[in-house]
Amino acid sequence: MDPLLSWARKNQHALIRFIRELVECESPTDSPDAVSRCAELLADSLSGVADGRTLATGPGVGRTYVCEFSLPGHRKSGTILALGHSDTVWPLGTLRSMKFRRRDGRLWGPGVLDMKAGLALFAFAMRALRDLEIPVSHKVKLLVNPDEETGSNASRATTERLAKKCRAVLVLEPGTGLEGKAKTARKGIGSYRVTVRGVAAHSGVDFEKGASAVVELSRQISERIAGFTDLGHGITVNPGVISGGTRSNVIAAEAETVVDIRVPRARDAVALEKKFRALRPFDKRCSLEVTGGLNRPPMERSKGVADLFQLARGFAAELGVTLEESSTGGGSDGNFTAALGVPTLDGIGAVGEGAHAAHESVLVDCLADRVALLARLVAGIG
Ligand SMILES: [Zn+2]
Repeated sequence: MDPLLSWARKNQHALIRFIRELVECESPTDSPDAVSRCAELLADSLSGVADGRTLATGPGVGRTYVCEFSLPGHRKSGTILALGHSDTVWPLGTLRSMKFRRRDGRLWGPGVLDMKAGLALFAFAMRALRDLEIPVSHKVKLLVNPDEETGSNASRATTERLAKKCRAVLVLEPGTGLEGKAKTARKGIGSYRVTVRGVAAHSGVDFEKGASAVVELSRQISERIAGFTDLGHGITVNPGVISGGTRSNVIAAEAETVVDIRVPRARDAVALEKKFRALRPFDKRCSLEVTGGLNRPPMERSKGVADLFQLARGFAAELGVTLEESSTGGGSDGNFTAALGVPTLDGIGAVGEGAHAAHESVLVDCLADRVALLARLVAGIG
């Protein structure tokens, strides 16, 4: 058997113990102290194999953990960055109703798939390289940010600064589906707020004097904004929230919608931006205000991304595992690094299903494969 794979199987109990520790250290994004505790737990656990520290990220969010692993091999050129996040979408206390448990060949618990198991897998992959004295020709860093689930606003700059100089970025997000497919493309994500200001009036006494913001906004949505969706090109525009008006007998003075956009290519975002900025009121007595834009650039399947995937696929095959690729409309920190032109492979963390849902779980059978694959990849990137 492959030595990495047999190491990973031999150490699986310890790996599961570590995943459990991480899951039981609850860390919702909006509880900064809890997220920081999770970062400190990582720092303590990795102190024997990596040189790391936690650092302040920004107001209102937990601490960031960053480390460089001490790995075998003398000549080091370039850096590989593994990217993860310590925060989850689960509020403090979720553990009471969603205990960590091992059942039906899976590990269950809040944040186990997204992405506490992914963090543990990478830590064990680096331990495997050390124990087996497999030389690594790059520096290997791990960056774990505290606010991915709310858009990485505070951590983005650090992620980009570290990634910029790297040979490759490995994102420890879960793979797609129960096959654990890697992610080689992610859509860019943005949000627009369209506010209409009309003229209020009594709907019975002064109807003609009013200019309804609600009617104007409805037309903007149905005749313009909804039409920006272009499924053939993977562009989706969703006016997901709408609000406006005060009472049924008042002609509404104000109404607004918040629109989610997803685009596969950077140029789609530029085109959408023009369309949103070109919106004009149908009723001249109303005015429109448009704010917002792209928050995460798309992770496009560049040659660098495709080459990295092929490398991973080859290593997986040597381990007897089929690694496929997928694309998704959901974002990750991989969007930022890929947009900088740094070869990025995403979705190579844990295999399972139910991220952000009550059935969130990780397949035990895939744990050792993933440890071996991550180790192979880190040692094999040229
Ligand atoms: Zn995640």
